[in-house]
Amino acid sequence: MSQATQIIHNIPIDELTGAIAVPIYQTSTFVQDAPGENRGYDYARSGNPTRKALEDLAAVLENGSTGAAFASGLAAIDAVVKLLESGDEIIAVDDIYGGAFRQFTQIYRKFGISVKYVDTTDPANLLDAISAKTKLIWIETPTNPTLKITDIQAISKIAKLHDCLVCVDNTFASPVLQKPLDLGADIVLHSATKYLGGHSDLIAGLVVTKTTELGEKIKFIQNACGAVLSPFDSWLVIRGIETLELRVRQHCLNAQRIAEWLQGQPGVKKVFYPGLKSHPNHDVAERQSSGFGGVISFELEENTTEAAKTLVTSTRYFKLAESLGGVKSLISHPATMTHKSIPDEKRRAAGVEDGLIRLSVGLENAEDLIGDLHLALKAVKLKTEVAASPVC
Ligand SMILES: *Cc1c(COP(=O)(O)O)cnc(C)c1O
Repeated sequence: MSQATQIIHNIPIDELTGAIAVPIYQTSTFVQDAPGENRGYDYARSGNPTRKALEDLAAVLENGSTGAAFASGLAAIDAVVKLLESGDEIIAVDDIYGGAFRQFTQIYRKFGISVKYVDTTDPANLLDAISAKTKLIWIETPTNPTLKITDIQAISKIAKLHDCLVCVDNTFASPVLQKPLDLGADIVLHSATKYLGGHSDLIAGLVVTKTTELGEKIKFIQNACGAVLSPFDSWLVIRGIETLELRVRQHCLNAQRIAEWLQGQPGVKKVFYPGLKSHPNHDVAERQSSGFGGVISFELEENTTEAAKTLVTSTRYFKLAESLGGVKSLISHPATMTHKSIPDEKRRAAGVEDGLIRLSVGLENAEDLIGDLHLALKAVKLKTEVAASPVC
């Protein structure tokens, strides 16, 4: 069965009424037939039919056994870390999502969980860093905002030898393009706020595990800690997933076209996009995913915050905002937005220069988006020339 058909036909028809859309079961509790005798549900934190439809769908999408839906991507990350114990160590990709970095360092360090950051784009670096204390390897591929690519299969092989779990944050690729569990990972995680929801209208997170054993542990944490996704937001994510395949394919086509165009533009120094042959791990991306996603970053020739600000405030269709994965194109300046809290030197060392711009390419017409960027680049050029000209 093709993926598009699989997605659409794993959304259940309501058994009671035949409703073709999953009903929103807006209820906190379920009436029992006798004490302890229920119809599959007892209390809505522990289980809700709308949420369950989403969780089962997520498991199918990622070729896993168990899905769990959370109130945000960060709540999903939190549930995975809670598999660990005090004294355990995580090895994480060095340019990990900022919110995960904050949670690891400002919350979990207090509880005795340590984190080592490693450039996982070369699996040899993991071999050097791994120890008996390491219990979890955390990767994102592609990463944010420099779109680094890590070989999931190579990392998983090393992790297996050392008996530790591999969790892949698959938010940027989406399950349409990349299936980490098929490549050896144990856990896959999504900020469903992004491509899965797809319309910039909700906050949600998902965890899918390869084995039911690990799935039961995540489900236990989900119920014990309580950061569940509401029935309404579960319904919205299901509705987003119905068009996921179609949307992601178009995001990829638009992004490839724009990345190639950007590469030749005056005023643009460097373009980061895994679909470009110039990307250092283009071959790995091509091998492990069926597309390169909708996020592009690029560096301006004029490598200053001022030039970047001119650019991001000169676009008409690319709206200035954090986040990604929605139908509307977004533009952001990581140095002063998502990566503001990282000290300048550390940020630049990670490749997030002052003149770096990130695009979440939406579903508008690609030529319109190119026209928009063309004018914005012209605005930067004009401003730079005016600033450089002598005052008379
Ligand atoms: C947005 C994002 C998250 C966090 O998800 P929220 O839904 O905002 O809590 C985690 N990982 C990645 C890669 C993200 O882009």
